[in-house]
Amino acid sequence: ITVYLNGEYLPLSQAKVSVLDRGFIFGDGVYEVVPAYQRKPFRLKEHIARLVRSLDKVSIQTGKDEAFWETLLTDLIQQSDWEDNYVYLQVTRGVAKRDHAFPNPPVAPTIFAMTCPLKRLTEQERQEGVKALSYPEMRWLHCDIKSISLLGNVLAKQYAVAHGVQEVVQFREGILTEGASSNIWVIKEGVIYAPKRDNRILEGIRYGLIEEFATQLNIPFVEADIAQSFVEEADELLQTSATREVVAITTYNHKPVGKGVPGPIFHQLRQTYDEVLAKL
Ligand code: PMP
Repeated sequence: ITVYLNGEYLPLSQAKVSVLDRGFIFGDGVYEVVPAYQRKPFRLKEHIARLVRSLDKVSIQTGKDEAFWETLLTDLIQQSDWEDNYVYLQVTRGVAKRDHAFPNPPVAPTIFAMTCPLKRLTEQERQEGVKALSYPEMRWLHCDIKSISLLGNVLAKQYAVAHGVQEVVQFREGILTEGASSNIWVIKEGVIYAPKRDNRILEGIRYGLIEEFATQLNIPFVEADIAQSFVEEADELLQTSATREVVAITTYNHKPVGKGVPGPIFHQLRQTYDEVLAKL
């Protein structure tokens, strides 16, 4: 497959980065994951805006404008080996002698991007939903940055896998944050409850999307600090991410959520998602 590295398109096997890259040494970088359907990017502008926000928050200067990112991402999607694919894009602070503080003067950031196959959930997986377990939040307090330092998320996801479930539902001081690699939504009496958009979570691109769908569908949408006990009593629990789209959590802490099958709000959101993708 063809990947992009620092201005060049080349085969994956030839893409090489120095061991002194600050991404490798410190996890000093940010990333994006942009899904594409039939080689058409979905919510591209929103993904680029979040990338620019992440870069700004960690003071990585690339000198690249939004048009550059748009061209890079659309080119890769076009050249991808897969019709449904996603771009993984990462920018690190570059290669420099090992020192925690930023290199001064700054060095050129490392920009790397590749596409991967987008394996959408099958109809059966959509109907079964997924299992999840609660998990105490162990991460730092800049979860709003899409940082490549993902050890906390890696350990959380491994906990899920080791326990035979697909995702964890994390709580910080008893308040719902998010999954290891997804946002989590709670449905109760016809209302969609979302964790507040602050430093405790990554605001998924699907966060804004679910909010728009809720408005369109006349479903009340409330941003709140959501207690662990409220999640246990949910009528429905949902998970969203670029690659999972929207899926119901049907088993939570070994107990069925609601009736143990995807609920009515899931179906409405899922249908709206499919309609939007069909019009891409
Ligand atoms: N939170 C975390 C920690 C994530 O890794 C992801 C997926 N990248 C999300 C939320 C969902 O974001 P998005 O909808 O942009 O995929």
